[in-house]
Amino acid sequence: MKRTRKPPRIPVAVRRLDMTSRTAERIGGGAVILIILALFLLVRAEPETLKPLSLLQINDLRAEAGQTETVTRNGTVTASVSAMDVLEVLGASPEDATAAAVALRDASPTRGQRLRPGTALSAWFEAGEDGRERLAGVSAKLSPKATLVASRSSDGRFKANLLSARTTTALHRVAGRIDTSLADAIIAGGGTRQHADMFAGLFPEDPALAKGGRKGERFDAVIEVVTDERGNFLEAGDLVFAAFNGAKTSGSWYRFTPEDTGLPEFFSRSGVAGDEFLLRDPVRGGEMSSGFGNRMHPITGEMLLHAGIDFRAPVGTPIRAAGSGLVTDMRYGEGYGWFVRIRHERGYETVYAHMSGFAENLTPGRTVMRGEVIGYVGSTGSSTGAHLHYEVLRNGFYVNPETLALPTGRDITGNKTVLAAFEAQRDAIDTFRNEAAGGQLFAATASTARMTNAPAP
Ligand SMILES: [Zn+2]
Repeated sequence: MKRTRKPPRIPVAVRRLDMTSRTAERIGGGAVILIILALFLLVRAEPETLKPLSLLQINDLRAEAGQTETVTRNGTVTASVSAMDVLEVLGASPEDATAAAVALRDASPTRGQRLRPGTALSAWFEAGEDGRERLAGVSAKLSPKATLVASRSSDGRFKANLLSARTTTALHRVAGRIDTSLADAIIAGGGTRQHADMFAGLFPEDPALAKGGRKGERFDAVIEVVTDERGNFLEAGDLVFAAFNGAKTSGSWYRFTPEDTGLPEFFSRSGVAGDEFLLRDPVRGGEMSSGFGNRMHPITGEMLLHAGIDFRAPVGTPIRAAGSGLVTDMRYGEGYGWFVRIRHERGYETVYAHMSGFAENLTPGRTVMRGEVIGYVGSTGSSTGAHLHYEVLRNGFYVNPETLALPTGRDITGNKTVLAAFEAQRDAIDTFRNEAAGGQLFAATASTARMTNAPAP
C-alpha cells in the first residue's frame, strides 16, 4: 500500500459521486484504443521515443493520426490460456504470437512471469507486404494506471514498453445515513466494498456494522480517488477517514503513516491507534475449527504442534491483514499452499496459509494496513477443507493467537515531530470535509462503547 500523502485540497470534490466501475471500464477501454493508435504511429516514426508516454500525449498523437487501417480484436488471458494462445486465437501466426508474448513478458513489471489471469489483451492487425493480415501489435492492460504495449518494429521484431498514466490523487467524501446497508451507501457514493469493509473494521464494538448497520445510522468517509491528467476517474484509492455515529458506537479515525515506521494506521483525533495491535479474526465471521497446541496428525497419527489456529470459511472469503506491516513473503509453500507472511512492529509476524488467491496488487515489499484484504480462503497445500491457517510469531517463536496478550495500538502523542505531521494531515482532512459538506457534519454524541476518541467536531 502506498504511503498516505498530504491530501491535496480541492474545492469541489464531490463531483464524481456518480463515478462507477462501469465508467472506469469505459474510460479504460478508451485508453487502450488510444494507446494502440498512438503506438502504431510512433513505431513508424521514431521507435526510440516510446517511453514514457502519457495518455494525454497519446491522445494528441491520435488526433493527428486520422484514420488508420487496422483491425482490432480483444481477448483475455486465463489460468489455462496464455497470452500467446490468445494471440493465436485472434489470428496471429504462431511465430508472431510467440514473439509478441515474449516481448510483453520481458517488459512487464513482474519480468519473466506470465501475465496474470484476467489480463485483457487487445491485438491489432495490419496488411503485411504480401497483402495478408499480420499482427502489428498487442496491448495488455495491467491496471487502470499501467498498460504494456508490444509492437512490430521496422525490423519485424516485437518490442514492448510499459506505459504509465500520469495520475493525480484527489479526495472524495461520501457521507450520509445508512438506508439498506453501509456497503450500499458507500458504493452508491463512489466508494467500494473494500472501503465499506475497512470502515466497519474500525468499529468492532458494533458487530452489526460489518453486517450492514442499522437504518438511519450516520457515516462519514473520505476516500482517495485516482484520476488521469484530464480528471477522468481511474480507480478508487485508500480510505483515509471514517466517522460513525450509530446506536452502539461512534467515533472518528484518520489514516496516517508515521514517518518512523512507514506503516499506515488509523489514529483517533488525539493520535492514538485504537484497540489491539492485531485483529483477532483475520476471517470475519470465520468459525474457529482447530486451536493452537499439540495434536495428532490426522493421517500419520504423529503428535505435532499445531502452530496456529484454523478458521473454517467458504472458499473465496476475504482474509484481512491482522495488523499493519510489510509483506515479506508470498508464494506457494509445501504444506502451506499459497501463503502470505507479514512483518509487523515490535517483533511480531503473522502468516496466512492455504489461500485460494492473493489480493490484487499485493506484492512482497508492499506495506499493508490492519484490516486490509490480502487474499482469499482456499484449501491449497496440505489441507482437507477450505480454511485459513493463521499463525502469529513473536520474536521468531510461535505464540497462541487466541490467548496472546496483545499490546494496544500505537500512541504518537509522545513524539512531537510525528504528532505535528499527523495533526497537519488530520486538519487538512477536516478542512476538506467542511468544504465538501456544505456544513452538514454530524454533531458529536456520547459514545456508548469503549472508544477512546471523540467524533470530529
Ligand atoms: Zn492449521
